[in-house]
Amino acid sequence: MSVDKKSAFDWIENNRELIIGISDKVWEFAELGLIEFKSSGLLADELEKHGFKVERGIAGMPTAFIATWGEGKPVIGIMGEYDALPGLSQKKSPRKDPLEPGKPGHGCGHNIHGTSGMAAAIAARKAIEKHKERGTIRFFGCPAEENFSGKVFMVRDGCFSDIDALISHHPSTMNEASLMSSLAVNSVKFHFYGKASHAGGSPEQGRSALDAVELMNMGVNYLREHVIQDARIHYIIEKGGDQPNIVPPYARSWYYVRAPERDQMEFIYNWILDIAKGAAIMTRTEVETEFLEGSYNVVPNRTISELIVKNMREIGLPKYSAEDLMFAEEIANSISPEMKIAQLKKSKRPGWERLVDKLIDDEVPDPWGEGEVSHGSTDVADVSWQTPTVEFGTPTWILGTPAHSWQAVAQNGVGIGHKSLIFAAKVMAATAIDLLTDKDALNKAKEEHRQRISNKKYTSPIPPDKKPPLDAWEK
Ligand SMILES: [Zn+2]
Repeated sequence: MSVDKKSAFDWIENNRELIIGISDKVWEFAELGLIEFKSSGLLADELEKHGFKVERGIAGMPTAFIATWGEGKPVIGIMGEYDALPGLSQKKSPRKDPLEPGKPGHGCGHNIHGTSGMAAAIAARKAIEKHKERGTIRFFGCPAEENFSGKVFMVRDGCFSDIDALISHHPSTMNEASLMSSLAVNSVKFHFYGKASHAGGSPEQGRSALDAVELMNMGVNYLREHVIQDARIHYIIEKGGDQPNIVPPYARSWYYVRAPERDQMEFIYNWILDIAKGAAIMTRTEVETEFLEGSYNVVPNRTISELIVKNMREIGLPKYSAEDLMFAEEIANSISPEMKIAQLKKSKRPGWERLVDKLIDDEVPDPWGEGEVSHGSTDVADVSWQTPTVEFGTPTWILGTPAHSWQAVAQNGVGIGHKSLIFAAKVMAATAIDLLTDKDALNKAKEEHRQRISNKKYTSPIPPDKKPPLDAWEK
């Protein structure tokens, strides 16, 4: 190991206030996917100030950017996200109290996600430059993780084609560099068109689009018996008509279909498309299918996960102030013990029972979960099919905190969140330095990736001509 990581850690320590300030600003902006103009601008400008060459407006998304420093191989990628969630506005308070009711909030901690990555990229650059090593550090500013799968567009446009390995951080309740996969997903809307008529006076003239939506849902609910255990199908009815005395001429449902492997998901998805057609035939209506987005399942990488765990242990976990702990205790009052135990159990972390009486995770476990699937989906998955990729977690929220909750929003903007941010930035900088300078480790990660992918082929889930839905929030 020729590069001393200390210069990277020193940069992070000396710029603690700057880094936390950026994360807090992104928290305040709380911008939704594809319109994160101020947030992406802030991160891109900071990278530019530190000598990164920045390309903005990548893959048809004005808020996507790529920042590059250095030259030649290897090329190590770091990803950052910065989109917020609708309706989750919350003050930096341990009690439920919206800042602006109904407005967005950072319920998944992407204010920290983007900033930890930005800080890690700059810090790794400082160390590599000092030691005159060769190699390239590339930061990916990735918009719209929560709703429009920004990274899938970036993958389709070849943004990751020359990356040798990639790391990413995500706020969590735990220190984790897990080996679990995720579910492949498709998001799709069904538009049914019928014929309006007076529902009392001349119902025989009408053709109900709502009937079609309901019959389709019924068909899908019968299908549930015949899908694999780990599949997930969920829907909402977005539009069901205007009032009862009009036979609804138009109705719309929105479905997510998920399964552990892309082909398993597609099998169920195609069956559902047939059920939609069947519902249209039964009701003499027309159906139009609108595919929105899709993503793959995560390909884990043990080699990189082990590097992350090693760096977490070497750096040492954050120390919390009395103020941090008081805030944590108050948040804990809003989380029931049953909820906390259920969450710990679901994590499948070996020895999770030890965490039941703890407020904050204080251990760094070995990577776990090989062969297991967590039941969410992420567009990080599509990147993990292109290059060895690991997204790791650090405790940003007290144990038991559900993601996408007001409790998470609050913690993403205060002491515990700030400490997670600084710790994660150091872990990521150290791991990037390892991958840039330790040829054996990088080759091992790449070989593992080749073996995990083996003969499976990645085909973009989105059609070649589909553009990111830049106007989605205006609809
Ligand atoms: Zn997230």
